[in-house]
Amino acid sequence: MTIRVGVFGAGGRMGSTVCRAVVGDDQLELVAAIDPFHAGIDLEKVTGAPVRGMQLSPTADSLTSAGAQVAIDFTTLDAARQNLAWCADNGVHAVVGTTGFQPGDMEELARIFTRSNCFIAPNFAIGAVLMMRFAELAAPFFETAEVIELHHDQKIDAPSGTAMLTAERMAARSSEWAADPTTRHTVAGARGGQGPGGIRMHSVRLRGLVAHQEVLLGTTGQTLSIRHDSHDRDSFMPGVLLAVKAVAGRPGLTVGLDALLDI
Ligand code: NAP
Repeated sequence: MTIRVGVFGAGGRMGSTVCRAVVGDDQLELVAAIDPFHAGIDLEKVTGAPVRGMQLSPTADSLTSAGAQVAIDFTTLDAARQNLAWCADNGVHAVVGTTGFQPGDMEELARIFTRSNCFIAPNFAIGAVLMMRFAELAAPFFETAEVIELHHDQKIDAPSGTAMLTAERMAARSSEWAADPTTRHTVAGARGGQGPGGIRMHSVRLRGLVAHQEVLLGTTGQTLSIRHDSHDRDSFMPGVLLAVKAVAGRPGLTVGLDALLDI
């Protein structure tokens, strides 16, 4: 039995990679692709996924007519909020990679997903999940820490969802961070933004990058650097496919790939 899958944002960078990954997995079947701005265009032309005769649809209704069991969303925050409300209303499971959700959104998703389930992860790369885990383990042993995330120059939100989650998890493990000594800022923002627990966050946007993050921790006489690099969007696909296969068995809302990796 294959799982029938629809993709929101199929014309985007992540969405088109997801379409190719779904088509390449013999346990999954791509049955619908939604992207209002590319509607009517041949899916194969937009995504390179080898599917004959499927066009991008403008609305989520194509998921119901195609009998989709799971919808994958890599869009924008506002679009994802609407798409997920639709999935919850229509009993379609959701796997979400879109970033920028606030704690209030998570409460709302937990409330509305009763007929179907929702799996959301700010980072589907296994290495990034391990990086967050290592940073969380290291946090109590260091007094200073900064998170530097580096992404391609088309990313519209900052800091990244991964950077926020990393800092939240480090702050939850340790509240004893040294105060920032800077009293004079020659350039505004040079010390980055203050994230959870006061941990400084820095966002670099550079053409040629995909998704990268470095967590720097320091204590007397030593530093620890934990770095992860996604060189290609394919790095997210094993995690996305794992979540698609698992979401039906996880009632309500699940946040983070860790839940599926037993770490
Ligand atoms: P992108 O290339 O801009 O793709 C987003 C796509 O969604 C675009 O084609 C956009 O169309 C489309 N879209 C907008 N509104 C829509 C709607 N209502 N329904 C369906 N499609 C809609 O962005 P991206 O680089 O693929 O990134 C997408 C999201 O994934 C971002 O939030 C990013 O941070 C996140 N991301 C997550 C992970 C992870 O592992 N969780 C990894 C990488 C990226 P237009 O371009 O025409 O507006």
